[in-house]
Amino acid sequence: MTTDQVRNQASVQQVTLLGASGSIGASTLDVLARHPDRYRLYALTAHRQWRKLGESCLRHRPRYAVVVEAAGAEALSAWLKTHGSDTRVLCGEDALSEVASAPEVDTVMAAIVGAAGLVPTLAAVEAGKKVLLANKEALVMAGGLFTRAVAQHGATLLPIDSEHNAIFQCLPRHPDDCLAGEGLRQSGVRRILLTASGGPFRALSARELLDVTPEQACAHPNWSMGQKISVDSATLMNKGLELIEACWLFHTRPDQIEIVVHPQSVIHSMVEYVDGSVLAQMGNPDMRTPIAHALAWPDRIESGVASLDVIATARLDFEAPDTARFPCLKLAAEAARQGGTAPTLLNAANEIAVAAFLERRLGFTEIPVVIGTVMERLSTTEPHDLEMVQTADRQARELARHLIDAR
Ligand code: NAD
Ligand code: MG
Repeated sequence: MTTDQVRNQASVQQVTLLGASGSIGASTLDVLARHPDRYRLYALTAHRQWRKLGESCLRHRPRYAVVVEAAGAEALSAWLKTHGSDTRVLCGEDALSEVASAPEVDTVMAAIVGAAGLVPTLAAVEAGKKVLLANKEALVMAGGLFTRAVAQHGATLLPIDSEHNAIFQCLPRHPDDCLAGEGLRQSGVRRILLTASGGPFRALSARELLDVTPEQACAHPNWSMGQKISVDSATLMNKGLELIEACWLFHTRPDQIEIVVHPQSVIHSMVEYVDGSVLAQMGNPDMRTPIAHALAWPDRIESGVASLDVIATARLDFEAPDTARFPCLKLAAEAARQGGTAPTLLNAANEIAVAAFLERRLGFTEIPVVIGTVMERLSTTEPHDLEMVQTADRQARELARHLIDAR
């Protein structure tokens, strides 16, 4: 081996990809495959889509594959053997945390959707990993615990959500650049402009929103994403969750963040400074940009994303969000202001309501009604540990299910 090869070998990052069978998972695998000299896959995980995971195992050769469901894990194990793969298959929720915290691992991409991602993502944080956070629900439901754990265990938290990644890129660099910093004011930041595409129903009337279907909600104009986040984008709950996410990531208050609808999704968010300067991060709407940014940070690597054609883009439009037609945004802003377990309740009720909408058991405009009722009826506390978060999460899910069944 040459000295360069030895040096490269030493700097190869071992990566665990939680949620490998999903949309962020696929984009992450695409970026990693472009840089075999920099990254090796330690583990890929999925809930039950073992076949898709199996194909990724053959292509990317991770040391471990985790399937949460036992039947899927068995099927994957047999399938991989017949295909001559030496990837070892693990099963169950605990295995997610094991591959997220294993000593060999440098970087964990947290791309499980929903509350299910919290425990393995926290395991990565507590093991002091570089954590690339796509799973915004983990931070929304347990922001205080999560950010304290980041500081306590010296983890590095980097945002994958395109808006938060954009904000991170527009903020000044601190010497010990990790997001557990001191807040924005000392840096001369006046406010954050968090952009929203407005989703597929931006132009529909309140009357038209009554009849929209899951298929229409999942057909996002600019981004191709998993079903849950697609519905969240259509209700604008996604922007509400992102408001809470931004407060935790950047140590800021909701009133320092303004939400702006920008239908082209070319500007991914902006930061305004006290001198009047506004910095924006722009690019094609493709998650491989924030993924490549966070993977390589503070370096830059190729992501496979095409150059932005500014002439073809031609114009950038902006408008205020309409919280009368999209009340989820108001509910989330209220939860952000309330703090404590209010965002936990919001997130849990939303997950249940979105699942019911996808199963056609709940109308689109009833989603915020269920969430609002859960938030009104349940009291909030300041959670001191994970158990308190999980209790609030469970209570909100039970009440949301009850409200949906009792209609
Ligand atoms: P997806 O539905 O396409 O994929 C979800 C992944 O999570 C799959 O691998 C699935 O197997 C796994 N999963 C689901 N339930 C699980 C469980 N109970 N236990 C273990 N694994 C489970 O979702 P996605 O669009 O890739 O989104 C993933 C996360 O990234 C979400 O939190 C989403 O909000 C966030 N995000 C996504 C995008 C995007 O463009 N897709 C953009 C920004 C943020
Ligand atoms: Mg986003």
